[in-house]
Amino acid sequence: MIIVMKQGAAQNNIEAVVKRVDELGYKTHLSRGEARTIIGIIGADEHKIDSATFEVMDGVEKTMRVMQPYKVASRDFTHQDTVIDVNGVQIGGKKVVIMAGPCSVESRAMIIETAHAIKEAGGSILRGGAFKPRSSPYSFQGLGEEGLRYLAEAREQTGLPVITEVMTPEDIDLIGEYTDIFQVGARNTQNYSLLKALGKVNKPVFLKRGLSGTIQELLMSAEYILSGGNMQVMVCERGIRTYETATRNTFDVNAIPVLKELTHLPVAADPAHGTGMVKLVPAISRAAVAAGADVIMVEVHPDPARAWSDGAQSLTPARFKQLMEELRPIAAAVRREI
Ligand code: PEP
Ligand code: MN
Repeated sequence: MIIVMKQGAAQNNIEAVVKRVDELGYKTHLSRGEARTIIGIIGADEHKIDSATFEVMDGVEKTMRVMQPYKVASRDFTHQDTVIDVNGVQIGGKKVVIMAGPCSVESRAMIIETAHAIKEAGGSILRGGAFKPRSSPYSFQGLGEEGLRYLAEAREQTGLPVITEVMTPEDIDLIGEYTDIFQVGARNTQNYSLLKALGKVNKPVFLKRGLSGTIQELLMSAEYILSGGNMQVMVCERGIRTYETATRNTFDVNAIPVLKELTHLPVAADPAHGTGMVKLVPAISRAAVAAGADVIMVEVHPDPARAWSDGAQSLTPARFKQLMEELRPIAAAVRREI
């Protein structure tokens, strides 16, 4: 349920409503618009609340039920687009944020070299997996904590915030010591114990769409994190399984404007995993910016032919630099910046 306050409602009226919600055992989220404040109620059985409880209170204009099964994630829940600040990088604002880096952190030298190249080309956030969810148990599984240390060193040298994947609730504390953003991969989008645990952390979460997940399932997964109290969530289209075999996955460009309409959360696009083919990454990145993505995540490797994972979809630093230039006019055309 959301409670819409009257235009110019007094602060003490707003506080009284928040206190009443608290007494009933629910959490609140305040969204202060230009004229009005909206108070969102967060809780498992908030649908049982009697709207009259609030409608009689001073300063309250009306209450509204959020009709979608996801509540906090819904556009109805809050006025403004959610903007997530990661060490000064605003995600979900006017600037389209570019996250780039190798699929896996392979060594200290390679992540540091890649980080400098990304910084120089104008990328804003460094990605790199240290705990890798590989389809085969025989494939490289990541460097683990050693990889996290190298990522942190790359951040120190370049100032780029870092994002890395977390696969289990047990790893959250360790990864949280190093990373600025937790990535939840496509194979874990419906790992509900992981999502619940991430609802309790005070760091942003980058949540990918499941391998065969619907947009609604993605938003329900986001709801697990949001309802736990962590409002810093972004959702990412990364391609889905279809009958098409020409590409690794089918990048669902529809998902970008659909998500922008359904949710206030920043929407990301991952054309590398979405296509699996480096030659398609620039075109799909351009399409994603044109479609309204707030974030583009791409894989960049200094020597893709020798990459330990996902080399076939990784850009060289030089091609990444060129891509940055290609994206700028597209961003400008949709009134964004890069
Ligand atoms: C990745 O980002 O390297 C990754 C494993 O992505 P996904 O979970 O989308 O497959
Ligand atoms: Mn990858």
